[in-house]
Amino acid sequence: MIMRSPLLILLLCLWLPAQAQWHSDSWDSMGTRATLEFWHQGDHGKDITEAIRQEFNRIENQLSPWIADSELARFNRLAVDQKFSPSDEFRFLLERSSLYSTTSNGAFDITFAGAGQLYNYRTAEAPDDAALQQTVIGMQHIHWHEDGSISKDHPSVRIDLGGIAKGYAIDRAVAILRAHNIDNAYLSLGGDSYVLGQRDGRLWQVGIRHPRNSKAVAITLPLTEIAVSTSGDYERFFVRDGEHIHHILNPHTGKPAGDIMSVTVLTGQGIDADALSTTIFVMGIEEGLALANRMPEVSAIIIDLKGKVHYSDDLTGH
Ligand code: ADP
Ligand code: MG
Repeated sequence: MIMRSPLLILLLCLWLPAQAQWHSDSWDSMGTRATLEFWHQGDHGKDITEAIRQEFNRIENQLSPWIADSELARFNRLAVDQKFSPSDEFRFLLERSSLYSTTSNGAFDITFAGAGQLYNYRTAEAPDDAALQQTVIGMQHIHWHEDGSISKDHPSVRIDLGGIAKGYAIDRAVAILRAHNIDNAYLSLGGDSYVLGQRDGRLWQVGIRHPRNSKAVAITLPLTEIAVSTSGDYERFFVRDGEHIHHILNPHTGKPAGDIMSVTVLTGQGIDADALSTTIFVMGIEEGLALANRMPEVSAIIIDLKGKVHYSDDLTGH
């Protein structure tokens, strides 16, 4: 009799533990597409997704060159010798960027933006040689002071964290997932991703997209607990007189880098994978692979302009 009470049945249903299930969501963030999939038991799935979405928004508001009061935009507007006190987060990103700049003899350099700001990929505009000669590029133009402040020595010094910020955002999101005891997840922000645990009892199958066909996968890698970042000449580009003018610039020339279509880097942290994929792209096949081979825990896969694939030694069993 009692069991037939609709109220009691409803209450019993509410008491039943929520089913474990895959949560998935996708949204636009940081100028690209964010994708999230995770296995979760309980009813906080939406809250976890929301926490990650908010964290990406916070990072974008802090680091976007297009948002006038972002910390990065405020740094870019500084007058010569004007002192700027960076937040801990901004300092961390500048320091890590500086490290990769040193490691790569300036192939990775966030002050590439001095030239970068002269390109407009939507309107197919690129600077001529005269304009490029006027640009000021190089980390030596940023000065670190003992009181913790920073300054620049030329009014044209600009920075852009587009080559490292998405990987950093991925790490922040992974920390949120771990804090919620999520063991199995896939997370991506444009060409940067991270895989945690497994997908239905198997390793995650992470695809490297074909650099000339956005719908095709060039290589599939079975992976777990690793960050994967791909830098490609197809993300932002235009073609002029048969020349593929893209967004990864050689800071030494201010022009699009090299002889590569895409570089994929696998390593523990998203921030390193992101910075290194851009770095290796600029360094080129030989020097780029040599760098990956010198770094423990770093694997690299390069697809060159002819479509030939080059692997770091650890992936070929050397
Ligand atoms: P993607 O945008 O293909 O995911 P990247 O991680 O390589 O690939 O990011 C490219 C971005 O990196 C560019 O849009 C620009 O903001 C920044 N960038 C371009 N050239 C350099 C460079 N030489 N050093 C540091 N950052 C760069
Ligand atoms: Mg990068």
